Amino acid sequence: MKLERVELFVVRLPLKNAYETSGARETHMTRVLCRVESEGVVGWGESVAGELPWYSGETWGTVLYALEEFILPELFKADLASAEDVDRKLAWIRDQRMAKATVEMAVWDLFANSVLLSGTCDRILCGGVIGIQPSIEALMETIRRELEGGYQRVKLKIKPGLEVQIAEATRKNFPNLAFMLDANSAYTLKDVALFKRIDPTKPTMIEQPLAYDDLVDHATLQRQIATPICLDESIHTSEDARKAIEIGATQVINIKAGRVGGLASAKRVHDVCASRDIPVWCGGMLEMGIGRAHNVHLASLPNFRVPGDVSASARYFETEIIGEPFTVEKDGTMRVPTKPGIGVTVLEDAIRKIATEHKEIRPS
Ligand code: MG
Repeated sequence: MKLERVELFVVRLPLKNAYETSGARETHMTRVLCRVESEGVVGWGESVAGELPWYSGETWGTVLYALEEFILPELFKADLASAEDVDRKLAWIRDQRMAKATVEMAVWDLFANSVLLSGTCDRILCGGVIGIQPSIEALMETIRRELEGGYQRVKLKIKPGLEVQIAEATRKNFPNLAFMLDANSAYTLKDVALFKRIDPTKPTMIEQPLAYDDLVDHATLQRQIATPICLDESIHTSEDARKAIEIGATQVINIKAGRVGGLASAKRVHDVCASRDIPVWCGGMLEMGIGRAHNVHLASLPNFRVPGDVSASARYFETEIIGEPFTVEKDGTMRVPTKPGIGVTVLEDAIRKIATEHKEIRPS
């Protein structure tokens, strides 16, 4: 199968609520949406790269550039026998994983005659992510609201100066709540004492406390604290996952297809973790509907044993780009679409209307 036409759309949507992490405070999400076409069939992908390079070095602008300059020209040359071929053809291109994933996931959608990835679960476990709030009281109120929405766990963003307070207040107000903390690389080994103070509050895990490119210091930290460490930013490949597990840097891994270069790579990370009995969960990047649909399918693979960041569409955006917004059931689960591919209707007319940039690229 040869790609005949690729369209890229830049869509910028306001968030219902500003989203603050240790890295940035965001009020909008800008995404590159990718529509691939071959032999009358269409597939869709969505980039997770942000407006600013605080989470990774990629942004929506670098994604556009990498796709146009070298990723799509490489793919136009290829005769693809399966979606996995995209990962193989692009393997020589270093980094640019979010850009690669944008088109790779669209090709998975294009190839899937039945349910994407054929995961084993018809429902996935959902969790809500809560950004840094203006006060501890506001945070407690937000947690209460999330629990009423049915979420099985909440993930709380932390930043230096607020971590112990957030953990202690949450445990005091919600004695039985499964909550986890996400530091987005805001700390160093000098902060061990802070993490020791968090231990008694028993979060289920702490995500990426140390540098975004580190494995070794995380292993050192894990030997000194009881809270399990979960890696996010540090894991870009299944080899990173293997090494992190082998040196004891992580007890759980957050998988984001965009961060690791696409669904083929995400499956490899999943498999490495499964073979070493390390549970995984599906991380979120405040996806619009297309990216969210891909995440729901990814999280239906069997080793996604922990509730992930995947939550209802309505939490983040007023505007929908798919026809069947994702909702959370009362038991904190979400149904995996059963129609072919990502299994949702992409609102193409709406996307064409709201896109701030549109590029159509064909084989030269
Ligand atoms: Mg994270």
